[in-house]
Amino acid sequence: MAFSVSSSYTKLRSILDATPDAPLPSPASIQEATKTIVSSLPIHGLGEEATEAHLLRDLPRGFNGPKTSSNYYGFVTGGVLPIAEAADNIVTAFDQSPMVHLPDQSISTIVEDRALNMLVELARLGAGPDWGGKTFTTGATGANILGLACGREAVLNSRLEDAGSQVGAIGLLAACQKAGVDEIQVLTTMGHSSLYKAASVAGLGRQSVKEIPVSESEPWKMDLDVLERELRRSSNGVVSIVVISAGEVNSGKWAVSGPEEMERIRFLCDEYAAWLHIDGAFGVFARSLPKTSEFASLINQASGLELADSITGDCHKLLNVPYDCGFFLTRSAQMLSAIFQNPNAAYLSSGPDASIPSPLNIGLENSRRFRALPVYAVLLTYGREGLGEMFARQVRLARSISRFIESSDDYELLPSSSKEEYFETTHIVVLFRARDEKKNAELVKNINATRKMYVSGTKWEGKPACRIAVSTWKVEVERDLRLVMDVLRDVAGGPS
Ligand SMILES: *Cc1c(COP(=O)(O)O)cnc(C)c1O
Repeated sequence: MAFSVSSSYTKLRSILDATPDAPLPSPASIQEATKTIVSSLPIHGLGEEATEAHLLRDLPRGFNGPKTSSNYYGFVTGGVLPIAEAADNIVTAFDQSPMVHLPDQSISTIVEDRALNMLVELARLGAGPDWGGKTFTTGATGANILGLACGREAVLNSRLEDAGSQVGAIGLLAACQKAGVDEIQVLTTMGHSSLYKAASVAGLGRQSVKEIPVSESEPWKMDLDVLERELRRSSNGVVSIVVISAGEVNSGKWAVSGPEEMERIRFLCDEYAAWLHIDGAFGVFARSLPKTSEFASLINQASGLELADSITGDCHKLLNVPYDCGFFLTRSAQMLSAIFQNPNAAYLSSGPDASIPSPLNIGLENSRRFRALPVYAVLLTYGREGLGEMFARQVRLARSISRFIESSDDYELLPSSSKEEYFETTHIVVLFRARDEKKNAELVKNINATRKMYVSGTKWEGKPACRIAVSTWKVEVERDLRLVMDVLRDVAGGPS
């Protein structure tokens, strides 16, 4: 009997439908699944049927549940909307590689371009064409690498005369020497770990990333006076890239409080020829919430991002498409192609008058997955209103959880310094700890041991803290709030 993809998929669906809505498999199933993993190349292949059985029956028992569970609150994972799953299977079935824009051969680059334009609309960042340089990336890490690469190129090229001797051509070392630059700094607050990685990849070094917070009690908030002082060092051969954490991953807090601050930062970056990048991996979608008084503070906090030179966003988080998919926006495709041009491959050319830049010339990869399709599918299926409603449910659950924690004697809502505006600016992250130190030390472990919900551990003010990130499309506010309250009450009631 010939192996059939469709019957295999039907089997998968029935297994998934029978899978309990659990965020984590039991330790026993993980152990059993681990034992089945084959670790050396078979001489005679097992064949499709035996392999299929292994893939469908043995391995999934050991997978965690960001996709299948409504109560997986770890990291910021998102789930997978059914239409996105369907689209992702179409991606695999047709195996397009949108790397060169070849409109008479495949429409994949056109779909990608349109999906990116609609994402710009969804995030209320203007019109798609305002962002001439835009591309899908593997995630926010990839997009942050693009952001720092663009920043590096821009801040140095502005000090160099001819295009033949710019960073992409002559390299960082020679460009710095020619430009009389002896330091490139990345100014930020609570930069995501991937920013440090990006700084290393972009040749700036992890130590180039400098935190400039207003205070120890508000480490996420950027001190704009310190920013100005740092930018002024440009007269001494120091050039700067400014990175705004627009949704810090531990606390959900923002480096800026609204459009006035963004305007001041924009002004300073122009004044001192610095590049302004936004890491809005999940935060950028705060701009897509319904424009009602319920979300006015959040929307205000998120306005002004359009003033940036470049923006990072993630689709595999709040937009609920499967891994992996992020996006990157900047104003001109030329900035990207100065860095990512794939030169001297005539066979990879789309001709001189291409209206859409070939993705291989504006991003890291040559061959690439058609990751635009699930995004396109989700945007079409739900539109602005449907997606706004999904984002609203995520926020409502996070806010109701934070209210519960605030009213509880057992837990403390963090950061404690930001109580005033807490509820209006809570987006999707809730950070807290148990008041009892002994319980707090075991809190994350004990919550996850219930296997009813999953949370991530982090540190805040040097102490362990617990973090709930709401990011799945499956959110049902009342139902999920009840579950979270029950679990948190149970865990608090246990022995100290
Ligand atoms: C998740 C996240 C990242 C990294 O994103 P990946 O998609 O995992 O590469 C970067 N910055 C922020 C603010 C994030 O939340």
